[in-house]
Parts: sequence; C-alpha cells; structure tokens
Amino acid sequence: MPATESDMRFPERLATLAERVKGFLPEDEGLALHAAASAAAQPGGVIVEIGSYCGKSTLYLGHVASVIGASVVTIDHHRGSEEHQIGWEYHDASLVDPETGLFDTLPTLRRTLVNAGIEEFVVPMIGRSSTIARWWRTPIDFLFIDGGHTDEAARADLDGWARWIRAGGTLAIHDVFPDPADGGQAPYRIFRAALDSGEFVEDCVAGSLRLLHRV
Ligand code: SAH
Ligand code: MG
Repeated sequence: MPATESDMRFPERLATLAERVKGFLPEDEGLALHAAASAAAQPGGVIVEIGSYCGKSTLYLGHVASVIGASVVTIDHHRGSEEHQIGWEYHDASLVDPETGLFDTLPTLRRTLVNAGIEEFVVPMIGRSSTIARWWRTPIDFLFIDGGHTDEAARADLDGWARWIRAGGTLAIHDVFPDPADGGQAPYRIFRAALDSGEFVEDCVAGSLRLLHRV
C-alpha cells in the first residue's frame, strides 16, 4: 500500500526523542531533511548519510525509510571529527569508551535506533567514508553529507559519493556557511563545487542545510 501523507508526517514520539539525542541538527533543519528525503526516497532504494554521530539526523531519515520501504546506510568511523577530540570545542567526555580511552559514538547510535524502533531500516557502516566510497557501487536516491569539516574530508565526500546520486536524486549538505564569520568553509566550498559542476541545481535552504538535486 502506498504511503499516505499522514504516514509520512514525522511523529511526535520521534520528535521528542530527536530533541534528547546528542547531536548537531536543529529541529527545523531536521524537518526540512525529512521532507526532502520523503520526496526523493523510493521503495527498495537507498538513502546514504555521512556522519551518524549519535543518530539525531538518522532519526529523520530512518523514519522516511520505514514508511517508504527504503534503507538508510549511515556511515561514520565513530571516532568524532576534529572538533570532538579532547580539548576541542565540541568534546563530550561522556562519549569516551573507558576501556579503550577512545571517543566512540557507536553504542549511543545503536541505542537511538532501538529507542526509535527503526533498527530494521538503518544499516550503520563503521569506517572512514572515503574507504567505503572506494568500493560502493549502488545508485543513491538521497545523499546527506554531514561528516568531517576539513577541506580534505568534505571534498572526499563530494567526490566519492555524489557521483552515485541518480538523476533527480537529492544532495543535502549540512553546515553550509557562506559567511566565514558564521562557521568553517569546507561544506560551503563543496556546495559551490556541486553547483559549479553543472550537475546539481539548488532547491532550497533551511538554516545551514542546502538541498540540491541532480539534473
Ligand atoms: N549528523 C549528526 C552529526 C554528525 S557530526 C547529527 O545529526 O547530530 C560529524 C560526524 O562525522 C562525526 O561523528 C565524525 O565521527 C564523523 N566523521 C568525520 N569525518 C569522517 C570520515 N572521514 N569518515 C567517516 N566519518 C567521519
Ligand atoms: Mg552538521
């Protein structure tokens, strides 16, 4: 049975959970991500997320997958970006594994998926996104880039992953700040590169989230 508009609405229960999950996605951007993924996802198809962290954004994408009958592949090495390391601005000491002493968001991601009831629709892949991109061969309906914010990491995500977006599929990029006073420039630079390639056009903006589609 095809999904109805009310099936597709992001449920209150998940909105409450999303609010509690650690992470970096304001609700309005989450809802914009959800709406865009609802429009692009296809039954049996794949949504790819780069940068799972504790699963905040994964909740929005996972709900879409559960309604449409798609899968979310969410990729992260779970060791955190530069800004999450000890001594940096966004370090959270409660996410350090006491046994290894390493930053590790994977256990929290798994709890988030269980609590949301979407484990069946979300496949976490643990590793560096550029390593996984080397052998990825599957067309993507919706790609969300929210991983490392160095130029090297962001560029590798665009180069390694955007090529798999099918015609009409969506490219979503987070943390795009045209003004350097608002934040780092790597996501903005890959957003510009995607537009300048002529392969993508912009659809809309929500906060620092940019949505484009492949022409
Ligand atoms: N989407 C999340 C936030 C992601 S934070 C939310 O909604 O809250 C960025 C994440 O990207 C971190 O968890 C970090 O471990 C991961 N990351 C950074 N560089 C990466 C790389 N090269 N490969 C895989 N994961 C990476
Ligand atoms: Mg982000």
